[in-house]
Amino acid sequence: MSKIFNIKCPSCGTQQDVELYEAVNAGAEPELKQALLENRLNRIDCADCEASFRIDLPLLYSDLQHNILIHWIPETADLAKEQIIEEFDQSLEQINTMLPADIAAPNVRLVLTRVELVELIYIIEAGLNHRVVEYVKYSIHTRNMEKVDPKKFCLLLNVQDSTADELFFVMQNVETQELGSELRYGRPAYESMVGLYDENPEEFLEMFPGPCVSARNLLLEDSSSTET
Ligand SMILES: [Zn+2]
Repeated sequence: MSKIFNIKCPSCGTQQDVELYEAVNAGAEPELKQALLENRLNRIDCADCEASFRIDLPLLYSDLQHNILIHWIPETADLAKEQIIEEFDQSLEQINTMLPADIAAPNVRLVLTRVELVELIYIIEAGLNHRVVEYVKYSIHTRNMEKVDPKKFCLLLNVQDSTADELFFVMQNVETQELGSELRYGRPAYESMVGLYDENPEEFLEMFPGPCVSARNLLLEDSSSTET
């Protein structure tokens, strides 16, 4: 689904009408999905200067084959992270109360950055358990609070470079977006965690109850609630 927007070049100020996408259906529009993965979606080349820039609109990514809907709602100056998560939770609750009891609620996720969206797509397609992956990140953060301070860094799972023996995580500086050191986590430890999840998912669901499954957000919430 696309719409025409009138966009002003951030470099030279030239205005032009461009087509931007607000939804991507992975099954029906594989070329849009590919553009998203390669950071080409909603990227504009200015008609007048050399500038190339990306316009971040709220985007709905659907993948019926994997039974998931992911909303990407970019954080903006007017809309802070906490507000996005709260409003999203409320509207999701409303949807769930409107659905007939015999219809399963759709599997809906919320992400705030394109990088998180791409990471989640790879996690789902690799058949990994997203909550368990975030639990692994949570334990990496808490065991290395100095080096992997959640205030400064987030962890991203690099699905493509992970091996049969190890999951590869990369540290990303949240301010500069720069990628840094790589951390490895044994696949057997992950698998045993998945075993615990299958036996007792409630504990993981309690830890990450909402649509925004993020170890870093959880740690930041924890630290702000102990500070106040
Ligand atoms: Zn320009």
